[in-house]
Amino acid sequence: MARYIGPVCKLCRAEGLKLFLKGKKCLSAKCPISRRNYPPGQHGQRRAGKKSDYGLQLREKQKAKRTYGVLERQFRRYYQEASRMRGVTGENLLHLLERRLDNVIFRLGFAASRSQARQLIRHNHVLVNGKRVNIPSFLVKVGQNLEIKESSRNVPGVMEAVSLRKSTGAFAWLERDDKNFTGRLTRLPTVDEIALPVKEQMIVELYSK
Ligand code: SF4
Repeated sequence: MARYIGPVCKLCRAEGLKLFLKGKKCLSAKCPISRRNYPPGQHGQRRAGKKSDYGLQLREKQKAKRTYGVLERQFRRYYQEASRMRGVTGENLLHLLERRLDNVIFRLGFAASRSQARQLIRHNHVLVNGKRVNIPSFLVKVGQNLEIKESSRNVPGVMEAVSLRKSTGAFAWLERDDKNFTGRLTRLPTVDEIALPVKEQMIVELYSK
């Protein structure tokens, strides 16, 4: 599946908030959001006009897409699947995004960002229930055992992430074994726990027009 390969800090600046797309840099003073918190481009510092309802909904969708590193076509598919599932569509959508393998590896702290997690997966460093899975969008099920392959535990990206995660907290819906580089999803998180700066209901309103 295709992915965005342009400058990611511009995405944060366009949304006016930190989307944490760059790992270590996001936690440092080098983060461009702390220095230039206005949209990128020639007219970025102009005063923005009042946004329409559509404009507001669009921004919420873009934030979610950019946070999880998903492009439009795949994101729309997640929405369609979420709307077919039982329960609240917005919540289902967030659960599908949260269950992506690249996201879970990132949340477990084995990668400093979702894009780095994606690379680890693509390069065959990750096992699910003991089997190699190299598809970043693989949907993790509750209870499945995720593991960084033994021979891959010294990969610089993993080591950097492990040192970084000491400064970030663990998540209540995940279980991690630091010694064995394993982890699993113990349950689905609530919307509050996901704590994404996104109003998922507005994404549903946008797509259900
Ligand atoms: Fe966003 Fe991280 Fe870049 Fe800051 S450093 S603008 S949080 S991607």
